[in-house]
Amino acid sequence: MKKYWLVGNWKMHGSLASNATLLNAIRERQPALSPYVDMVLCPAFPYIAQMASLVEGTGIQLGAQNASDHLQGAYTGETSPRMLKELGCGYVIIGHSERRIYQGENDGLMGRKALAAIDAGLIPIICVGETAEERDKSRTHEVLARQLDAAFGYIRTAHDQVIIAYEPIWAIGTGIAATPEIVQTEHAFLRSRVAQRDPSFAARMPIIYGGSVKPGNAASLFSMPDVDGGLIGSAALNAEDFVAIYQSLVKTCESRAD
Ligand code: PEP
Repeated sequence: MKKYWLVGNWKMHGSLASNATLLNAIRERQPALSPYVDMVLCPAFPYIAQMASLVEGTGIQLGAQNASDHLQGAYTGETSPRMLKELGCGYVIIGHSERRIYQGENDGLMGRKALAAIDAGLIPIICVGETAEERDKSRTHEVLARQLDAAFGYIRTAHDQVIIAYEPIWAIGTGIAATPEIVQTEHAFLRSRVAQRDPSFAARMPIIYGGSVKPGNAASLFSMPDVDGGLIGSAALNAEDFVAIYQSLVKTCESRAD
């Protein structure tokens, strides 16, 4: 059976005590994971080592929220993807819209970061998505194509593994998720764009959706054929909600024949 992913982005939240409490609450509600749905938690940088020891042996995987586009060197304040790998991360979120907005990250930097992450042995979760204004002006596909093409200028489709996260900026943290129909349309567009470069890579490339996913809308979003999981922000900070979303994804994937 095909694999699916549920990624929790804890953003700049947490403390030593609250991370342990949240993880315990997730584990109490979901003691065993589905072999088909990977659960990935992305805590803030200072807590990666703490979380690595807490998730050991649980099957829960670890990701970071960002990484440098360099593996090593005189880059004060940066974090190498190689260091993240050494600490136990398997994934890293690249190009999240909050980094594009607040840190001025651009498409080219996102591509270089994705490549550095891959070279360090991490799976980059590459975020793409349009603003409300771009959608209103019917520029969604132009924007998605530009962001995707920039990343795929660096990715070697022959052997690299990546996850694409479609995160419309207007849906992030707003409580207004994209409709399942919009999500399916954009995921299919992203897949077809990558298929122009490499059809077999595109067919197996996971595309997850992020933007106000909650227990109440998860099942309908996950039921779309080109949705391979979710990237969860606010609801990932609540064990009950996060586990309900995880279980909804497990149910969907078990009902599919693939
Ligand atoms: C995110 O920040 O990646 C995200 C999806 O946030 P939220 O679930 O809160 O919309």
